[in-house]
Amino acid sequence: MSIKVTAVSKVYKSQKALNKVSFSADKGEIIGFLGPNGAGKSTMMKILTGFIKPNSGEVLVDGIDVLQNPLEAQKTIGYLPEHNPLYTEMYVREYLQFQAEIFKIDKTQIEACISQVGLTIEAHKKINQLSKGYQQRVGLAAAILHNPKVLILDEPTTGLDPNQLVEIRALIRALGKDKTVLFSTHIMQEVEAVCDRVIIIKQGELLVDKRLAELKEDHQQVIVVTFDYKIEEQFISRIPNVVSYKNNYDNTWYITFESEKDMRPVIFDFAQENGLKILELNTQNKNLETLFREVTSA
Ligand code: ADP
Ligand code: MG
Repeated sequence: MSIKVTAVSKVYKSQKALNKVSFSADKGEIIGFLGPNGAGKSTMMKILTGFIKPNSGEVLVDGIDVLQNPLEAQKTIGYLPEHNPLYTEMYVREYLQFQAEIFKIDKTQIEACISQVGLTIEAHKKINQLSKGYQQRVGLAAAILHNPKVLILDEPTTGLDPNQLVEIRALIRALGKDKTVLFSTHIMQEVEAVCDRVIIIKQGELLVDKRLAELKEDHQQVIVVTFDYKIEEQFISRIPNVVSYKNNYDNTWYITFESEKDMRPVIFDFAQENGLKILELNTQNKNLETLFREVTSA
């Protein structure tokens, strides 16, 4: 297992950013980490890379406990933070040499990384002379300098024009051939274009974790239902066709059904039989399109 996140929660003062998020990534997988703004993507990535600590939970990267041994874990992780902070007054090659020096990385790898991200022709230029797409390549080169097994890329394609998008996506796919890649995005199509698997979070909750192939021929549906009253798990497990269920911090349940027929009337009957009132009832996740809407609606 390349990444293993178990029940990670993070609260910033009063803001709950992640609520018991668990997922794992196999070696060599490219995973799209999808969610609207404020979903908790960057927070998860900062925790994965050891830059901030969760309030609870466990994080292993390549078998190393990131919370116990952040420096050790960072040796196996390449990280491209959101907004790609670069010293734009520096020249590309100079910047990468500088990065190698601070992180005590073997400098003989610099040229190989420059070529790997397609920067050879631009390597003598100042970073601020490069287009946004090329600046992202510099960030990617810096992230792979120490030949990490796991790459964490925080919105690597945000702000790129359509041509640059295609190029950076292709580069991510190429890097994913021998690395595990987790990259965040709020663009559903991006996931379709690049990933093996998609993880969707929203308001700190993990909603979906599926292989793309699986998702495309999915008969599962997630129903989000809010009851007027707190109920016991056993009740939910008795509803027909239930595959899994998850309770929110309030009386809202995310219930996954394996069924081609709409399960909303069944939930309605269930509520009535048990003397519950439904305050809200919605279906999600019938297919990529529904997912797309889920992610793009705030
Ligand atoms: P995303 O990357 O998916 O847009 P973030 O992880 O940046 O989401 O943020 C998740 C939530 O946590 C948001 O509501 C955001 O406002 C809040 N948040 C993020 N960083 C901080 C911080 N340093 N202090 C307080 N709240 C924060
Ligand atoms: Mg973010």
